Amino acid sequence: MHCTSTRSFLLLPLFILISTLPAAAFNIELNFTGGLSGSQQAAFFEAERFWEEKITGYLTDFSQPGLTINAGGAVMDGAGGVVGSGGVSRTERSGGFTLATRASIQFDIDDALTLEDDGLFSDMVLHEMAHAMGFGTLWGANDVYVAGTGQYTGQHALNAYRSEFGQEGAAFVPVELGGGEGTANGHWDEVDHGAEPTFIADTLGRDMRDELMTGWLSDDIFVSNTTLMSFADIGYEVNAVPLPSSLLLLGLGLAALLRIRANPMTPGRKRT
Ligand SMILES: [Zn+2]
Repeated sequence: MHCTSTRSFLLLPLFILISTLPAAAFNIELNFTGGLSGSQQAAFFEAERFWEEKITGYLTDFSQPGLTINAGGAVMDGAGGVVGSGGVSRTERSGGFTLATRASIQFDIDDALTLEDDGLFSDMVLHEMAHAMGFGTLWGANDVYVAGTGQYTGQHALNAYRSEFGQEGAAFVPVELGGGEGTANGHWDEVDHGAEPTFIADTLGRDMRDELMTGWLSDDIFVSNTTLMSFADIGYEVNAVPLPSSLLLLGLGLAALLRIRANPMTPGRKRT
């Protein structure tokens, strides 16, 4: 026989454990449809690992097993011009969110080779996969952005933007309105074609121009907390990134897991 006190002692940790389990795990399933080389497919697997590490689950009781992405290469318009296309092809509503269940990423095989030679293909895949998950593509459906306004208002990304880019008074995260269809309304704002710095920089001095989810590709990219937290605005559970060392010195603490929400797809060395 166990005494009551022992039993209650054992139950408590169990309860805590259950209560912190995510509603459902987030899983990306890659479905290669042809036209990509082994090294290009490896870049997709690398991007999958990155996003599955950052996005740990859903903020709702989402019954789907995750997101299936059809990935391939095709002859499009030769080198230059259209680099590729992609988008969310199927969504499901759950707990007030519109979540992607199927998406597609297709590269122009001529441009894919050039991007690979320039060492930019992996970054491009990382970028497109974010769109497949809902960045810029499901913003409207999740009420964090209204097309044409240039003002992203999802609270989690906005909070991250305020703190990491020193924009304490910001009422929105600026969204790209240039670049035409596929670039406008689906990326963080930068000077068109990335010609100039935005002069909005994080505590490490990294200009927003080089952020992964702007509309024009940079040689040396970084992924901001603003981008990561935007996924909390559209229904995902996000694994918060460590603060830059300068902030850590101030003794600020962050929980390992932050619950956030985020929306569908857009286009970009103009990437999309
Ligand atoms: Zn894009």
